[in-house]
Amino acid sequence: MKIAICGYGGMGSHHAQHIIPTTSKNLEVIGAYDIREERLEQAQKDGYIAYDSYEALLNDKQVDIVLIATPNDFHKDQAIAALRSGKHVVCEKPVTLSSEQLEAIVEVEKETGKVFMVHQNRRWDEDYLVIKNLYENHQIGEVFHIESRVHGANGIPGDWRCKAKHGGGMLYDWGVHLLDQILDMVDSPLKTVYSDQSFVLGHDSDDGFTSYLKFENGVTAQIEVATTNFITLPRWYVKGLKGTAVIHDWNLNGEMIEYNYEAEHIAPTPIKAGAGLTKTMAPLNEGSVIKQQLPRPLEQKQSFYENFVSTVNKETEPIIKNSEVLRVMRLIEAMFASYEHNQVIEFE
Ligand code: NAD
Repeated sequence: MKIAICGYGGMGSHHAQHIIPTTSKNLEVIGAYDIREERLEQAQKDGYIAYDSYEALLNDKQVDIVLIATPNDFHKDQAIAALRSGKHVVCEKPVTLSSEQLEAIVEVEKETGKVFMVHQNRRWDEDYLVIKNLYENHQIGEVFHIESRVHGANGIPGDWRCKAKHGGGMLYDWGVHLLDQILDMVDSPLKTVYSDQSFVLGHDSDDGFTSYLKFENGVTAQIEVATTNFITLPRWYVKGLKGTAVIHDWNLNGEMIEYNYEAEHIAPTPIKAGAGLTKTMAPLNEGSVIKQQLPRPLEQKQSFYENFVSTVNKETEPIIKNSEVLRVMRLIEAMFASYEHNQVIEFE
């Protein structure tokens, strides 16, 4: 199948040059359209047809699939136009700026019988798949609290990512990935959400947020994105009834500590702590705990693009379902409402 890209910027060109050639045997990138002349020249240099308008791309009969990798506010109209032109569509995240906009796309998807799938690629992240393994296989007992965060100190780079009219801000940017992961992992209705946002950099869209989710099965999750942290906290911190796991970074540096049920346990003795004394916070005796290797990441059966192609061919179900993407968009809306009213929001 042949794919053409709308928006040949950072991510559009990364799909063309890296993601598609390394993860799919069945796709060929043939062309690109971008509003900026220099990006079109780059596409041509990279060996692709440079379309001089989006209509020209959509009118090219060779094109089976359109990848949309433009700023977030363009996704809805460009996706609908592509579906109506008889193309299948891959769309970058965040899919749209609201659940209503996504529902409008899904309606056209049904009407046209074409496939529309969102590139929620962080379902393939190894750090996520390690934590998902821990969650599903109870190596530290039943998991009851998950902290998932990304911290940077670069502010919001780029020309549109900090602007509300383009769907800027970290909730739409990294937030959508972390929320997609947590809703994919925790197999329970989400009962409540509370969310705060940060605007310390002075943009009209958030430079970070912290949110607290409570699921019906008792699991709680703290999700945080920040762009002003010169010292970063771990990517994952997970508590189970029998142990704790931490993953510091995307290279999977981390550890897992489990309670040693075989060992002889000695009651904690008080230690001096600051200007006081504590037994509660005294470290466990050596031997009471065992340090374990983190589990291996679970495997995704197919790459994103192989799954897309086999979904088009009706051979399989999509890994990223539009109903799941819609749930994430509704959660983002609940988080905006929570921030605006400084309230806990009932979710499902
Ligand atoms: P970018 O600014 O590097 O690229 C966007 C490109 O779109 C630019 O070349 C710009 O000229 C072009 N453009 C703007 N308006 C257009 C229009 N109306 N029609 C055609 N082209 C237009 O931004 P980016 O980082 O590549 O982000 C693009 C999309 O990819 C965003 O939705 C972003 O959230 C997403 N993204 C996803 C990931 C991921 O890991 N899934 C990572 C980065 C970006």
